[in-house]
Amino acid sequence: MPKQSPVSLDPRSPLVLDTRELPRRPGALRTVNRVVPAPSDLGGELIAVPEGADLELDLRMESVSEGVLVSGTVSGPVRGECGRCLREINDSVAVTIQELYAYENSTTDVTTEEDEVGRMQGDLIDLEPAVRDAVVLALPTNPLCRQDCPGLCPDCGVHWDDLPADHSHQQIDPRWAGLSQLTRTEE
Ligand SMILES: [Zn+2]
Ligand SMILES: [Zn+2]
Repeated sequence: MPKQSPVSLDPRSPLVLDTRELPRRPGALRTVNRVVPAPSDLGGELIAVPEGADLELDLRMESVSEGVLVSGTVSGPVRGECGRCLREINDSVAVTIQELYAYENSTTDVTTEEDEVGRMQGDLIDLEPAVRDAVVLALPTNPLCRQDCPGLCPDCGVHWDDLPADHSHQQIDPRWAGLSQLTRTEE
């Protein structure tokens, strides 16, 4: 009995590729250019592609002897929060994908682990895990609204951008006074 994958894929699901139109002959090619709604949790806690946002797939599927090689780019908008000042970040991400999906019961299927090489389920490919991995890897773990974001004044919580250069809260610890002088001259 052929091995059955635990979850059956829905061919209409946005990140499932259907290879029925792709001849199973090494070298055969099909391109996939489409915009799909982003799945939930695509990214990290602080920055992610909003669920339902336009995710652009610009991929090609190529038949190889044991399966289908999917390569190309996936891009979409990202939204997050600056780790220093909590301002909203609106950016975009583009990741490169190159992933082999083995035919069911091919030698590759039988001789490799599923975490080494992807698997096809019949004619379908679930692209979501690969896209998710690539996007998570591409997004910063400490997102910033801009590289030199000065953050918030620890005493009043106002963004340093919105404060006058000589902003201070009295009682500067004498040990730090020299340092704050230094920071100011840098501006
Ligand atoms: Zn910031
Ligand atoms: Zn302050």
